[in-house]
Amino acid sequence: MSPVLIMIIERMNMYRKNELIELNITSLTSDGDGVGRVGEMVFFVPNTAVGDTIRAKVLKVKKNVGFARVEEIVTPSSDRMEADCPVSFSCGGCVYRHISYEAECRAKRQKVIDAVTRIGKLDAALVHDIIPSKNIDGYRNKAMIPVGLDRDGEVVMGYYARHSHHIMHCLRCQLSPSVFNDIIEDVYAFLRHRPSLVYSPQNRRGIRHIYLRYAETTGDVMFCVVAGSRHFDGEEVLYHSLIEKYPSIKSMILNVNAEDTNVILGKRSYTVYGDDHIADMLCGLRFEIAPEAFYQINRSQAQTLYAKAKEYADLSGTETLIDLYCGAGTIGLSMADKCKELIGVEIIPEAIENAKRNALQNGVLNARFICGDAPQAAEQLRKEGIRPDVIVVDPPRKGLTPELIDTIVRMTPDRVVYVSCDPATMSRDLNLFTEQNYSVKEITPVDMFPRTSHCESVCRMTRCQGQL
Ligand code: SAH
Repeated sequence: MSPVLIMIIERMNMYRKNELIELNITSLTSDGDGVGRVGEMVFFVPNTAVGDTIRAKVLKVKKNVGFARVEEIVTPSSDRMEADCPVSFSCGGCVYRHISYEAECRAKRQKVIDAVTRIGKLDAALVHDIIPSKNIDGYRNKAMIPVGLDRDGEVVMGYYARHSHHIMHCLRCQLSPSVFNDIIEDVYAFLRHRPSLVYSPQNRRGIRHIYLRYAETTGDVMFCVVAGSRHFDGEEVLYHSLIEKYPSIKSMILNVNAEDTNVILGKRSYTVYGDDHIADMLCGLRFEIAPEAFYQINRSQAQTLYAKAKEYADLSGTETLIDLYCGAGTIGLSMADKCKELIGVEIIPEAIENAKRNALQNGVLNARFICGDAPQAAEQLRKEGIRPDVIVVDPPRKGLTPELIDTIVRMTPDRVVYVSCDPATMSRDLNLFTEQNYSVKEITPVDMFPRTSHCESVCRMTRCQGQL
């Protein structure tokens, strides 16, 4: 390499790997990492808090950003508290166990404001205060626990390490109800001396995941084994011991997944004991949920979120309401008493079956559900001449497609309620709506996932009069 080039590179990389630097943490990224600046350089440091002064070791340097690790906390931030989980700094689940919940809520509201202003080009004043979660621990009603072998061939179960598919052995998680942790410990006791029962890409048999669901209002538990094959040695022993010990297990399912994929559930599910679903109460309605169907993981906070969405939908009883990405029908059905007609759209067939049954069982007669891709189904409804007054969307993280936004705009609903689990994609989409005759009126962040960096939001848009 020429000396001139070396000089240029050296100038650019004033900081070297393993160098110790002092940083003041002044903000957090949307993933919860601390941000500190030295001159032109911005460093990202996980597990820090706004207000910390730290000594950090440089791990990696790019042009004018670097990544570092805390070596010493010189002056702790007043937001700090003792992290109360032994694996919190390596586990990919929680990122905020070392700061107060109040500081976490501040960070999440800021995350929404940053996305709404930078990506959505909207006014920060549109973002209300965040609605905090009543339960900070034990709120998860769903857990998917990977099962694997470590380098020594020992069975490991737990959670994925941050940014990786490496399983950190950890049987109890504070975000889970204790019944999950007890069951996981028992499954581990069963598997511990049976490493041959663990799935590997070579054998394509054996257990890959333990998947649990909990219905808070009934106490019912769904226990699901995801395995590479329809049967595994000792299955009777495992099933019987769990059924005997946990009368709350009302549904036991074996899901077969022998594909080389990161998707957890395979296409075939077999009910090995009890029902093929569990039932929970939400917003005064009873919902049956299949293993494949989406169901909000923080039930009590889901009720708060849906109530806010209902307020934003502002229904009077005469409206046609479309609920896009409806899952098992929860949001739409919670609003069906206030509209004339409800149409739900969802791509997972099992979820649509649940939605139809949930409507019937709750005596909701003004609802119909369509299984299909939301952009296509919406376009089809538009062509059929359906003119909804209100559309609710609740897409997965990737948000809406420009085509779907176009179709929604062409259906001219008076109000659009956008429920989102990703402020960045929501903001991108809101920006498109504002270019097409819709006005963003307000956004409420709702904390569904305490201790993680994720934040839900609900947004109210109205159609501008007189144009289009
Ligand atoms: N509104 C529901 C579900 C929201 S999660 C609730 O609150 O429970 C997002 C849902 O979108 C999931 O059920 C997922 O299966 C569904 N989905 C994902 N891609 C889709 C698509 N292209 N068309 C329709 N539904 C889709």
